[in-house]
This record gives sequence, C-alpha cells and structure tokens, in this order.
Amino acid sequence: MPFKVLTAEFMHESNTFSIRTTGLAQFRRETLMFGDEAIAKRSHSNTGLAGAITCRDEFGWDMTHSVSAWSEPAGPVTEEAYEFLAGKIVEAAKAQKFDGILLCLHGAMVAEHTDDGEGELLSRLRAVVGPDLPIAVTLDLHASVTKRMCELAQILVSYKTYPHIDLRETAYHAGTLLQRTMAGGIQPKTLRVHLPMLEEANGGRTDIGAMVERIERARAYEKDQPGALAVSINGAFPEADIAEVGPTVLVTYDGDPTAHQAFAERIADDIWERRNEVLNVFHTVEAVAEIAKAYAKVKGPLIIADYADNPGGGSYGDSTNLLRALLEAGIDDAAFGPMVDPQAAKALAEMGEGATVTIAIGGKTDPRFGGAPLTVTGTIKLVSNGDFTGDGPMIGGLDQSFGTSVVLIVDGIEVLVTSTPLQMLDLQQFRAFGIDPAAKRVVGLKSMQHFRAAFEPIASKVVVCDSGALCTLDYSRLPFTKIPRPIFPLDRDMVR
Ligand SMILES: [Zn+2]
Repeated sequence: MPFKVLTAEFMHESNTFSIRTTGLAQFRRETLMFGDEAIAKRSHSNTGLAGAITCRDEFGWDMTHSVSAWSEPAGPVTEEAYEFLAGKIVEAAKAQKFDGILLCLHGAMVAEHTDDGEGELLSRLRAVVGPDLPIAVTLDLHASVTKRMCELAQILVSYKTYPHIDLRETAYHAGTLLQRTMAGGIQPKTLRVHLPMLEEANGGRTDIGAMVERIERARAYEKDQPGALAVSINGAFPEADIAEVGPTVLVTYDGDPTAHQAFAERIADDIWERRNEVLNVFHTVEAVAEIAKAYAKVKGPLIIADYADNPGGGSYGDSTNLLRALLEAGIDDAAFGPMVDPQAAKALAEMGEGATVTIAIGGKTDPRFGGAPLTVTGTIKLVSNGDFTGDGPMIGGLDQSFGTSVVLIVDGIEVLVTSTPLQMLDLQQFRAFGIDPAAKRVVGLKSMQHFRAAFEPIASKVVVCDSGALCTLDYSRLPFTKIPRPIFPLDRDMVR
C-alpha cells in the first residue's frame, strides 16, 4: 500500500511593527490556491510543493495537497485569515487517515491571536492525528523557531541559501526523511539551540561571510555524522516582537543526541562570537546618491538596494527618501522600483499613457519610517495591470502581480509606481513593464538580499543603503516590549 501523505504550503513572515495586517484579501492577491490547481501552477518552480511532488513520484505516495498560501511579509496575519488557512489544513488532516504530513511553512508567522503561528498549527494538527504521526516541516532560513515547533514536529529542515533558491531541494530533503520515518527506518527528533540575538550578523546571507562556512559544515555533518539527518541554521527575522525571536541551530537526528547537541552548540557559538562581523556597508541615501553621481557605467548598472524599505521584510515599499536623494542629485538614465502607492497608481492609470502630471507619490502609510510623500512632475510611459511571470532563479515560472502599476518618467528616472508591495528579486519585475535594468546607468530597488540572485549578474557594482524605513538596521527605533532582554544588538555589551 502506498503511504498516504498530506501536504500544505502556508508561509508568512510577519513584521509585528507594521501597521498593516495581512488578511485573506492579501493572500488571495498573491498566492492562495487549493489542491490540483496549486499542483498545476507550482510544481515546476522553486517551491516546496515541487519538492513534495518529486517525493510523491519517487516514493509512490498517495498525496493529498490541501492549500498553498503565501503573501509578501507585512503585519501579523489576521485572525480570520489564520483560522481559514490553518482550518483548511486541519480539516484535511481530519478527513482521512494519513501516514505522514509534509508542511512547507516559514517559521516567523505571527497572527493577531498567536505569536507562534507554526507552533499553533502543529498543536492543532497533533490534536487530530495524535502524538506519533510523522510530521516533517520545511522552514525559511529566517525562521524564529520555537521550542514548541521542535516538540511537535519530528523533522524540521530549513533552506540553506539566501537568496532562497533551494525551496524545492529543502522539501525534497524533508520528504525523504518523512519517507524513511513512515517506512520505520528512523525515529527522528529535532533538537534546538537558541541565541539571545535579534538576528545573525549578516541577516543569514549565504553568498559571502561566515554563513558560507557554516553551511558547508552543516552539509558535511549531515553527510558524515551517523544519525544526523538534517542541520538547519536559522538567521531569524528581527522585526518581530515575540518571546522566542532569534537565530537557532537545529539538528534533526535519529538515536543518541549527545554529539548532535555539541555540534549545534559549536555552530551557535560561532554565530555569537562573530556577531560584530557585519559585511554590508549601510550607506545613507545622500551617500549613495553621491556614489551614483560619480558612477561611470562600465558594463552594467550601479544597483542601489534600499535595505530598509524591503517589502520582503514587511516594509511598506513606499519610502521616498532614496528617490528624493537621487532626484536631488540629478541622477538620470536610471530606473527605480517599486514605489508602492495604490492611490497614486490608480490616479495615474486613469490619466493614461502620455500624460504629463504633478503628483505626490509614496510616504503615505507611516512617514516616520522612510519619509513623507514626494511631489514629482513626470510623464506616464506605461499603464499596466501589474502582472508578470518571473524568469530568475527564485521565482522563475511563477505568476505574481503588483496590481495596477504605472511607469512614470521623472527627470530621467523611470519610476515603477505599484499598488501591491513586492520586493525586487527578478528582472521581470522591471522588464514586464518596459524597463530594461541592464541598459540603465543606475537602478534603485527595494530589497535586502534576494535581489542579488537576478540583479548581480547584470550589475557592475552593488551598494546598499538604509533609508530609515521600517526594516531599518537601527533597531532602537522599533518599540520592542515582548522580546527577552538582554538581547544583541540592543544590549550591545551583554554577555551570553
Ligand atoms: Zn527568508
């Protein structure tokens, strides 16, 4: 008899400082599909579901996929959305008797009524399936993994890349362990070492720095250490005012945990000891405007990433400080995006292509983070419904939408004004709207790290700035109340 496996994707990274909660409407606009529709649309891309499908085909699973739900990070998931989506998964678990469950989660989900969205979901599932049914979970490298999650799921496996290009491989890894568990070959558990920090020194980036070596050690340990099934090094998500915020090292293992505990502690010690080794230089917006002024294009553009206004970290995407600085510095032959402003996008779309307009864009959600609305005069080059299909390493083949969007040319800068916040991580987010970033001298975009997967290959130079928006590196501006103290870097001189 083939093993019966229930799968689901339910992912949200919740920025508890955002004043904008994440409701069902946002999931519906971004990704919310069920069963066969999800399988049809998401099985050939960099998704957890694609990894589950590979397992289904390889192991002959009788697989039931309940739901795929994802939205760009924002404020906590509403109680209504959480109950609806978690409810779908729990209902599916009740409807049939399964041999195992494979869940693709994020690990940093906060809902209006629970700070541990994933732990709560697992606890509701346990109430239905009992304590012993094998449950495997994939997590984002930015998960804030709670003790409860590790007690309730036997198998937890996180992405090993940032930019995250291994969602499919991670789910395949977790699914393989689930298969071995269902077949009775292993009896896995997961141990956790937690650090009193908001995040790993470089936000968990795996392209340079200490994480490169840590991931290599993790892979070698998984391969060579008897009983080691998966090592997960989670950089955590710092914009979350929750009791169990912070980086964790997990080992999913079979048998005696002693050696694995020691290994996890060694990796955790390294994260702590190298907490000051920050590799990004976070310029001010004025400083990057000066760099742009002096930049002579060689092959590709200068890419300026606004780290703080990254919608991928729950920022509003409407910070005006960087665009203002570029305009004041007279930068031209440039592209900029996104400037998230549904009100302006709608007004501009109604005026139509070719119109010359003066309008206030951005800065409307919470101008304390990232600057006030910016009044500009420009010409409308293009009006679009905002739909695009990714073609890069992260979202290649996946359909997404910015909602009603307009390209407004302001003094030689093509500004992509959108309705929906999405971080820039795929060239199609410009190209689908007639902007060729590779042909520009300067490209300003909103993203922390994910942009590197698609934009570094076309760039001659990359710089990063902190515009003062919601994902600012200056954590003292965020009103934390629930995190344990002391915590690094708020209590910079603390001892661990
Ligand atoms: Zn992440």
